[in-house]
Amino acid sequence: MKKIFLILFILIVSILAYFYFFYRNESLISLLETTEEEEFYIDNYSIFGQHLNISGCIDEVIDNDLSLVLKNEEEDIVLGGNFYKNENRTCFKISDKINDGIFLDDLKIGSYLLLVRENDNENLKYYTLQNKTKYENLEYYTVTRNDKNNKINIIFDISKEKNYVEFKIEEEKLKDDVYDIVIDPGHGGKDVGSSGTLDGTTYYESDLTLDIALSLKEKLERLGLKVKLTREDDTYLEPYGDGGRALLPNYYKSKYSISLHLNSAYGNMNYGGVEVYTPNDINYDFSIILANNVAEIVGYSKKGTDKISNGVYYTYFTKQDIENSNSEMLEKNMKPYDIKENSPYMYMIREVGGINTGAYIDGRNDYYGLNNYYNSNITAEPYLIEMAYINYNKDLNKLIKDKEDFAEAICDSISEYLNIS
Ligand SMILES: [Zn+2]
Repeated sequence: MKKIFLILFILIVSILAYFYFFYRNESLISLLETTEEEEFYIDNYSIFGQHLNISGCIDEVIDNDLSLVLKNEEEDIVLGGNFYKNENRTCFKISDKINDGIFLDDLKIGSYLLLVRENDNENLKYYTLQNKTKYENLEYYTVTRNDKNNKINIIFDISKEKNYVEFKIEEEKLKDDVYDIVIDPGHGGKDVGSSGTLDGTTYYESDLTLDIALSLKEKLERLGLKVKLTREDDTYLEPYGDGGRALLPNYYKSKYSISLHLNSAYGNMNYGGVEVYTPNDINYDFSIILANNVAEIVGYSKKGTDKISNGVYYTYFTKQDIENSNSEMLEKNMKPYDIKENSPYMYMIREVGGINTGAYIDGRNDYYGLNNYYNSNITAEPYLIEMAYINYNKDLNKLIKDKEDFAEAICDSISEYLNIS
């Protein structure tokens, strides 16, 4: 008898849930009927780290106030948009910085239409958006907070008379193979990286970065974050191809990728301090926090080239670098890559960031393999930190004796930036 009640209960709940979702979706579609005839089109959109960047236009001049909104029956969530006129068109670009724009982790649970809202003397008009990019639906998980995540589905629907973009946001824990952050201890196995000697013992970059990464993982997990290391022991990782180091942050759908390295200076043995490497022309808030916190242990690097601010750096391909690369590839009988001038030089920044950061390992040369994500419009936000100089005794001493301090400083930077404690 009990069983029958249970089955009946499940049946009723299922029917109610079906009607609830059906009604919600229908109400969203009924909103479409109140939109204007003309529509905007999206010419670019991408998710980099925790931000959605989006741009587009409409083929007419609109003089009234415009803003991008997420709308459902209850409310309009205003996202901004930075609208401007461009000849006979009206365009928007949510941000010039790839790691800025719509902060996805703040969006509330619900189903919304992405619309452009025009304020015509308090009379509100709405325009739908059509996706004119080659990219399709996206799925994004927010960073874990209090053991919870939201899943955001951005859906481009062309099944109705009008094209529309739907944001479906629901609470859902990370799937097994999805992580918040990937920490990448540099080098490993046959690739020991740089080395330094103190009191007759030689220390290798690959060992020290692994020790610090293991400790950092533990600390971040104590904050409730789900963390994946690119390697957990002394193994060698290929940079590209299946299981390649540069692919792992995106394979695990992580929001951030932080590579840990140690510097070494040629000649000048008094070189020391921290250098944080970032993609170019981004919002540098996180890099600055990271550099400042690690500088409390070893100071800022004195390196003057490629410097953005104290301890923050950007290395890029110059015209000469590209010419060198092209002739080297030709000598090896390989096809030259499509390298853009001023794009990031370090592969863990360039390739992890995909097209946003100028990735080019596109499978044209078997020897290097393929970066499956080089053309992706959803990627992790990559950083690389040279925590200290391994061949500068003052730094090496700290690396051996105060290893925990480095893990602590990086953990504090992440928790400060993500506002998690
Ligand atoms: Zn290194």
